[in-house]
Amino acid sequence: MNTGLSVYGKDARTIKFLELVFVDMNGFPRGMEVPMDRYEEATEEGIPFDGSSIPGFEGIEDSDLIFRADPSTYVEVPWEGVSRVYGYIYKGRKPYPADPRSVLREVLKELEKAGFRAYVGPEPEFYLFRKNGSWKLEIPDGGGYFDLLSPGRDVWREIALYMPAFGLTPEVLHHEVGMGQHEIDFRYDEALRTADNIISFKYIVKAVARMHGLHATFMPKPLRDFPGNGMHLHLSLWKGGENAFASEDGLSEVALHFLGGLLAHARALTAITNPTVNSYKRLVPGYEAPVYVSWGYRNRSALVRIPAFWGNGARMEYRCPDPSANPYLTFAAVLMAGLDGIRRKLEPESYVEENVYEMEGSRRKELGIETLPGSLGEALEELKKDKTVRESLRGAYRNFVEYKEREWEGYLEYLKDQRLPEDTLDVTEWELRRYFNV
Ligand code: GLU
Ligand code: MG
Repeated sequence: MNTGLSVYGKDARTIKFLELVFVDMNGFPRGMEVPMDRYEEATEEGIPFDGSSIPGFEGIEDSDLIFRADPSTYVEVPWEGVSRVYGYIYKGRKPYPADPRSVLREVLKELEKAGFRAYVGPEPEFYLFRKNGSWKLEIPDGGGYFDLLSPGRDVWREIALYMPAFGLTPEVLHHEVGMGQHEIDFRYDEALRTADNIISFKYIVKAVARMHGLHATFMPKPLRDFPGNGMHLHLSLWKGGENAFASEDGLSEVALHFLGGLLAHARALTAITNPTVNSYKRLVPGYEAPVYVSWGYRNRSALVRIPAFWGNGARMEYRCPDPSANPYLTFAAVLMAGLDGIRRKLEPESYVEENVYEMEGSRRKELGIETLPGSLGEALEELKKDKTVRESLRGAYRNFVEYKEREWEGYLEYLKDQRLPEDTLDVTEWELRRYFNV
């Protein structure tokens, strides 16, 4: 049998193809392959393509787009005879407005004008399921939080061993609370690099899971009665080589204002950090996912947690995002919300050290603690009202909202067909089909 391996080559010396990778509005990697000898052309004049069928790109008149590779992201895929590179999309000479990577690049330029560089460290969580050809999800291990003996560890280790080939530095591998749920944290980096790293990370996890006969899913809430998958973000801003969030006695003024910005825009941000119908089934009490707009130092029920690291380790953990989010748009929105807080010198309110879930509603009211949106539909309404967050998406805003509104309407129609209530917390087959591969 001809396996094709002799044709494609199995190792880096015989690499014949190059994957040109960008992400669509959903943060899903898309691209094309070109023969390796077009690499120079891909980085210089770029490779033209028809973008009219890319989710979230339609609607902007003409379809002639150009992919230009960013050579700083070039890697060779260790298990396949191909290499990959991320890039920017252009329309003519101008950046294509709906290209998420270009949106983040612009936002980072604005941040730089204000004197800051942003660093982000993610904590992506995922489930492994056994493949069984149906939507009945089969959990392959019975492990719990920090279980060291689950069969999943073979999968983590292999993932971690592949990560450096993609420029990622694994830091901690552990079993999460859900059976079959895992987390691998990797080293924080400058924001654009981390967004690329998240895309690479999911690619590695899915590929390695497949090698083990498993499915990996990053969907925010695959099973109703199990914890969801979060993607907490550790955020810090640096100025002149120093952490601008650090001060002698805890968080700096800059950090507190940034936090004020996050809280002030939290409700609108969810449309971007939690952009799927399924995301809102994660944001319910009882599973360590945030529900209320609050912050604290130790409290894991809070939306923003301040880990006890000072000096250059000073940072804040934004616990809302989930791994269905487009990391480029998420970072753009979150950083602009924080920058708005810095510019307007917003003070963070709604500090709590109690468990917010267990608090009486009246006590929450007294403390001025708001609730996060309960659905994608509600979050989109919040987004439309929030100028700062809207503008953070720049030219991608209109495409994003139109795309997501159609998604929400499609779900509502499905519910009607199935005679299910709009606020059902059941994970529907509609969601599994649409989001299992996010
Ligand atoms: N899985 C939880 C979430 O949905 C987070 C668990 C943790 O604290 O790491 O965000
Ligand atoms: Mg976790």
